[in-house]
Amino acid sequence: MAKREVRMWPDPVLTQICAPVDVNAPDVAALIEDLFDTMYDAKGRGLAAPQIGVLQRMFVVDVTWKEGPPEPRVFINPEVASTSDAASEMSEQCLSIPDLPMSVTRPDHIQLRWSTRAGDRLEARFDGILARCILHEFDHLNGKVIFDHQPAPLRADLEARYAP
Ligand code: ZN
Repeated sequence: MAKREVRMWPDPVLTQICAPVDVNAPDVAALIEDLFDTMYDAKGRGLAAPQIGVLQRMFVVDVTWKEGPPEPRVFINPEVASTSDAASEMSEQCLSIPDLPMSVTRPDHIQLRWSTRAGDRLEARFDGILARCILHEFDHLNGKVIFDHQPAPLRADLEARYAP
């Protein structure tokens, strides 16, 4: 198990659509451990596989570990079944875009389906910060980052500033 390098925007790996995970593949367990090791080391609350260069539909989240007991969660092949009409705007940070918090509007709650590491398919509702964090990581699986939620002129400005 190991900490991996976090890919920084505009690394092209962050703009790709990720492929479904074969939950029974032998490398899945190690990938999950690497995601957690890398996320905790980077002091993050979530990390998606493409952020460590793996184009697979999987991410890990722990929104409580900085303030209290950790609640590590793994989401494999997630699907957003529905989202609330009610939405909120809040500042978010991304480990792939350091030191650049950005305001993002997201639904207040979501209905999510996903596979566990044991391969079980689950469905549940998530609210508040957890819903927000899940949607942020889910975006990564579709090649989206917080820049993509900004108005076009601001996004163009950011891309120009961060272009290699
Ligand atoms: Zn991110």
